[in-house]
Amino acid sequence: MDQILWGKSIVFHGHECPGLAIGFRACEIAKEKLGLDFSDDEELICISEIDSCPVDAIRFVAGCTEEKGNLIINRTGNAAFSFFNDDTGESVRLVLKKMTGEMTKDESKRFILEAPAEEVFSILDSF
Ligand SMILES: [Zn+2]
Repeated sequence: MDQILWGKSIVFHGHECPGLAIGFRACEIAKEKLGLDFSDDEELICISEIDSCPVDAIRFVAGCTEEKGNLIINRTGNAAFSFFNDDTGESVRLVLKKMTGEMTKDESKRFILEAPAEEVFSILDSF
């Protein structure tokens, strides 16, 4: 993972928390799957189904913001994020899996950031 980007995300968000890690990891996976980087314009679109800490990582790491029109918050209560490549029509939906066993805040943060992608999220893509 990109430690420097993670550090900058913490500064942007104001604190280090598992929620930020969820959004950060979702962005890293989506960017890789869709072949996109930080969205200068609106080529990367995100629909987030929650409106808490993970969204700050999506703003900072993926460049999706409501103001720019490429971040849509559609509250369903699921920790689920859909990303679309507006140029190709490809998409990926990531749904956070239930974490098993007792984990401290620090352990869950590390798990979210470092475990294999398929262990952290159910991943559905359109390719
Ligand atoms: Zn937070």
